[in-house]
Amino acid sequence: MIIVVKNSCEQQQFNNLVEWIKELGLDVHVSRGEQSTVLGLVGDTSKVDQDLISSLDIVEQVQRVQEPYKNANRKFHPVDTVVEVGGTKIGGDNFTVIAGPCSVESESQIIEVAKAVKKAGATLLRGGAFKPRTSPYAFQGLKDTGIGLLLKAKEETGLPIVTELLSVSHLDLFKDVDIIQIGARNMQNFELLKEVGKTGKPILLKRGLANTLQELLMSAEYIMAEGDCQVILCERGIRTFETMTRNTLDLSAVPALKEKTHLPIIIDPSHSTGIAKFVEPMSLASVGAGADGLIIEVHNDPKRALCDGAQSLNPEQFSSLMGKVGAMAKLVGKKVNF
Ligand code: PEP
Ligand code: MN
Repeated sequence: MIIVVKNSCEQQQFNNLVEWIKELGLDVHVSRGEQSTVLGLVGDTSKVDQDLISSLDIVEQVQRVQEPYKNANRKFHPVDTVVEVGGTKIGGDNFTVIAGPCSVESESQIIEVAKAVKKAGATLLRGGAFKPRTSPYAFQGLKDTGIGLLLKAKEETGLPIVTELLSVSHLDLFKDVDIIQIGARNMQNFELLKEVGKTGKPILLKRGLANTLQELLMSAEYIMAEGDCQVILCERGIRTFETMTRNTLDLSAVPALKEKTHLPIIIDPSHSTGIAKFVEPMSLASVGAGADGLIIEVHNDPKRALCDGAQSLNPEQFSSLMGKVGAMAKLVGKKVNF
């Protein structure tokens, strides 16, 4: 961190500032120029309040030269993290597809979809049991029954399961869940992040509706600070002024995040577009952008889906998409098993 001190600063005020920074456990490197004096802070500045320093009368400007995240930072962990779950790898040179319905609706539905997505090459099954719906009157999910049905589908197909946790109070129900999903609406629910970090399970962390990539990385940092290093990031579209798609898929998040972090990054083309026929082009674009995988909504009967039918592919559409995604992933040097 660099602090530019105003020329008008009196010696006593300057000394007080340096003293205060030293009390924070940091070393200070002073360089005096004609126009201003620059302080270089040496040490772990992640706990320093940049806004507080900026607010001081004697300070002209404060700039961070180091990111405030450590565990998620590629600088301290240059090698890609590969998350392994039930024989499937996410990250590194692997390309992995998670698929399944928006919500678990019945035993026959989840088992039928699980079998279909497995046949097409998906290696993880998604399905919401607790649904974060905008309206309290909309279908809220089958809750604990839904988790039970996902486990049945896992037993039947061998696919590890990914499902969203909405509240710490449900955590007991998630002990057999393979990957815990933290949805967009909870990306900055810091207490929830700390609790899932304590489980040591792989966590699929979705980007918030209006959050920056740095905020996403800081949320990953919350989980990792608890000792859980198995975090998978997910870009699922952000809010913009555009209304032709449900959200705007920020594909440049992939190369931007790849530069800053070693964590795997997957794309959700279903929630980002909201339109089934846009899922294929955006899936292919995601492969081209360098993503480590996709999470796609598939329903056996999208027209009758209780949630997100308009963006759900049927099994035939999914199978055809997987053929193209597999070919493209190989082209960009990724390992695929489909
Ligand atoms: C979901 O994946 O089921 C979901 C609710 O997604 P998001 O949190 O990205 O809206
Ligand atoms: Mn959905």
